[in-house]
Amino acid sequence: MTHENIAGQIGGHCGFPAIGTRDRPDVRPAPAVLVSTLMTTYTDTNPLHVVIAGGGVAALETMMALRSLAADHVRITLLAPERDYHYRPMAVAEPFSIAHARSVALVAIAADFDARHVRGTLAAVEPDARRIVTGDGEPIAYDALVIACGTRTRRAFDGAITVDDRSIGVTLRGLIQDIEEGYAHKVAFVAQTQAFWPLPLYELALQTANRAYDMNATVDIALVSPESAPLALLGDGISSDVARLLRDAAITFHGSSFAEVSRGTVTLGPGDGELRDYRVVAMPALEGPQISGVPTDPHGFIPVSSYGAVRGLDGVYAAGDVTAHPIKHGGLAAQQADVVASAIAWRAGVADEPKPLQTVIRGALMTGRETRLLEAVLGGDGAYRSKATDAGPANPPAKIVAKHLGPYLADGQRYAVRA
Ligand SMILES: Cc1cc2nc3c(=O)[nH]c(=O)nc-3n(C[C@H](O)[C@H](O)[C@H](O)COP(=O)(O)OP(=O)(O)OC[C@H]3O[C@@H](n4cnc5c(N)ncnc54)[C@H](O)[C@@H]3O)c2cc1C
Repeated sequence: MTHENIAGQIGGHCGFPAIGTRDRPDVRPAPAVLVSTLMTTYTDTNPLHVVIAGGGVAALETMMALRSLAADHVRITLLAPERDYHYRPMAVAEPFSIAHARSVALVAIAADFDARHVRGTLAAVEPDARRIVTGDGEPIAYDALVIACGTRTRRAFDGAITVDDRSIGVTLRGLIQDIEEGYAHKVAFVAQTQAFWPLPLYELALQTANRAYDMNATVDIALVSPESAPLALLGDGISSDVARLLRDAAITFHGSSFAEVSRGTVTLGPGDGELRDYRVVAMPALEGPQISGVPTDPHGFIPVSSYGAVRGLDGVYAAGDVTAHPIKHGGLAAQQADVVASAIAWRAGVADEPKPLQTVIRGALMTGRETRLLEAVLGGDGAYRSKATDAGPANPPAKIVAKHLGPYLADGQRYAVRA
């Protein structure tokens, strides 16, 4: 690929150093004077203003990676509606009272990386004016914009418990108590589509089965999914390991099934299979946020280049669940964020040429017994090569693997702000 082609994918050049000035991408400009032929100079006294919209994994990892790569050559504004960062994956342990999802104040995280946290939402992008408009109608100018707004969730079926990390501790705990006390004998865990967070449904099903076993409760557990085999999307190594875990826990897997749910009956399409009188736990339907001026696919997700650049919008990037990547996953969100940060740092003239995203899905699957470490590497043929190994005594292993956010959160003092 020519340098110009790479630069196009890395993300426009309006306001960034022009391509011709950087024919040798391996040569760093002098750090204090970063000259653009477009007459923009980004220095520690005139830093590039990066607006990051979001307060989740992708936003925070972008902020941390950017600060690490570009030091004070960037000024960072973190625009997010909430007060706290919530560590979502541990929500699956809440119904079993194993652990609690924790939160840290965003203003404190932002301060640690010399960024400004502005509470609000990204409502519109006006690329010609190079500014955004917040939900309150306030314009904010940017040199580079990173959209890391995640997904919106919708209840997939009426009458089912929807997996929602904000409330699952409460909603599922009632079901677990009913199983323990003998009021619930059949539970189906249902994924409606393949474009989903891969781990939580399996973790919830396995933990429920293992808890029921420990309590001597008799319960029939089914897992219904459009996948041909458990976690098939992530390759044979992970899939066969998870199939074994389901078998050991006596969970029946109904694959290649597009389910409909009505009054406790799960209809397994295509065909006329049915699961009757089941309590149903379902993954939500996911859709992208509505941000005016940003191109999306039919589900509202943003297509990006392998460098995270939003096509057609100079200086605009996206990372994490908001992108059109078929898998939504925290570790992937962090990798995308690292690529975006290096693309922005490169365009600002303070880092080496970035490498395109090499997708690797890493995660820890909690079963209520052992914890499995999963790793799936996307090959050139579009298929994942994967493996699953025992996590050993690590307690708890990182649920979201992120180069900068992981070590930051592993620091107990910061992480214990709110439990
Ligand atoms: C129950 C559960 C368990 C999971 N387990 C795992 C796991 O074990 N490992 C793993 O890697 N992943 C896991 N995931 C997936 C992981 O949590 C997500 O993939 C990850 O949070 C995506 O990060 P993100 O930053 O893209 O989006 P989010 O974390 O959703 O963050 C989006 C942020 O954008 C903000 N926002 C929304 N709209 C706007 C707007 N218009 N303007 C500004 N800000 C906005 C939101 O308020 C939020 O702060 C799990 C998910 C769930 C629900």
